[in-house]
Amino acid sequence: MNHSVVNLVKIQEEIHLKIRESNNTLIAPEIIAVSKTIAMKDILPVINQGHKHFGENKVQEAVEKWEDIKKDFNHISLHMIGKLQKNKAKYAVKLFDYIHSLDNLRLAEKLSNEEKKQKKKIKIFIQINLENESQKNGITLDEIDDFYKRCIGDLNLNIIGFMCIPPQDGNLTAYFKEMKNLLNKYELKELSMGMSSDYLEAIKYQSTFIRIGTKIFGKRN
Ligand SMILES: *Cc1c(COP(=O)(O)O)cnc(C)c1O
Repeated sequence: MNHSVVNLVKIQEEIHLKIRESNNTLIAPEIIAVSKTIAMKDILPVINQGHKHFGENKVQEAVEKWEDIKKDFNHISLHMIGKLQKNKAKYAVKLFDYIHSLDNLRLAEKLSNEEKKQKKKIKIFIQINLENESQKNGITLDEIDDFYKRCIGDLNLNIIGFMCIPPQDGNLTAYFKEMKNLLNKYELKELSMGMSSDYLEAIKYQSTFIRIGTKIFGKRN
């Protein structure tokens, strides 16, 4: 079997074991196979195995790799997980099924316009910056209330949940717990949280989409 497929199966088994150990109090998240920088020939075995969710972080790269493939495999859902520039919103709405990185009002307005033009609705996560890290994108806790209301009110966006990239050195458990509380406060369902290094921790806190690159496809160049 192809090594990426083997890796993916291992991750699925590991998660199911954790869920059994929790007496089914945990739920299985969807696994987004993050294929940024990986060539399509190395992604294809995972697609052919029937895997559904794939993630990219650059619009241009995603269009080149996925535009045709998506027409041939309509079971695929494509996720934009990287910083989205306003001027790429048009292409993002066209190609992606989910956007995880909504982090400012201008982008929200642009996405809303494009959705109307293209008559297409994207499932959107608001990216959260819990600890006001200046080098990170995302909506902070003082902004979230207004921002969320604008998104679902005038802009009519389909906000399905929150996404985060926690700090590398902080208290991960506390961070995940706070994200879970935030999600419940807003009565949203989906939480995009957990990467190769921390997904087993993330699923303890209601993560519904984990974003896994390295652990499936190996180290990126
Ligand atoms: C690259 C990336 C991932 C996957 O990271 P790995 O550590 O390789 O699993 C997840 N989320 C975002 C936003 C990324 O850019």
